[in-house]
Amino acid sequence: MSQLVVEQIVREFPTRAQPLRILDGASLSLSAGENVAILGPSGSGKSTLLHIIGTLDRPTSGSVRLGGEDPFRLGEAEQAAFRNRRIGLVFQDHHLLPQCSVLENVLIPTIASGATHPDDVARARTLLDRVGLAARLDHRPAELSGGERQRVAIARALIRQPELLLADEPTGNLDRSTAAEVAALLAELQAAEQTMMVVVTHSVELASHLQRRLELDRGQLRPADQ
Ligand code: ADP
Ligand code: MG
Repeated sequence: MSQLVVEQIVREFPTRAQPLRILDGASLSLSAGENVAILGPSGSGKSTLLHIIGTLDRPTSGSVRLGGEDPFRLGEAEQAAFRNRRIGLVFQDHHLLPQCSVLENVLIPTIASGATHPDDVARARTLLDRVGLAARLDHRPAELSGGERQRVAIARALIRQPELLLADEPTGNLDRSTAAEVAALLAELQAAEQTMMVVVTHSVELASHLQRRLELDRGQLRPADQ
């Protein structure tokens, strides 16, 4: 059974004077099928924490285990493969490749692991159908709206059936009604795929779609009071 266990994460950034301690013992755990929102004001360390869980940054101390495995004990290449295979990431900005079509963008994570298999193409088509973009497979990102681009980014994050989906302000660049649609879609796909999901947001609307709400306060996670 897949599980995410994040224990006592500390992250300090060196400065000329005393190191800046942004995370100070943040802990959280999730089981298969569960999701959680992380709320907190700008600058509270939400992205820093999400990047550590996603192995894009290392903690000063503390541990992350996904399915019992600690990615920070892996070498660089193994860690990259771990991230590519087991974690899906969605950012505030879509990070799509402008020269690639919608279908190609969704397939990018499968190329990183070798040749694209026909099953991957079939899954990409299915996911794009589920996010409502079946008719836009050959379009370039510039030909899509902001909400549509974010839908492509969600499909790309799910293409390898990751155990863990991480999203950092995924609706932050969208207008209100588009943001609500994308939030509902994220929650729906996460439930259908039974992946674990951590969403960083300061949108109460987005957080309301999720099972649990935690707040990052002085470097630690605690239940959000709402
Ligand atoms: P949030 O996502 O909650 O807005 P961040 O995690 O981006 O917050 O940043 C939290 C704090 O950590 C901010 O004060 C930011 O300036 C600081 N910080 C983030 N990354 C670095 C870094 N590489 N070096 C120094 N300070 C950083
Ligand atoms: Mg942030």
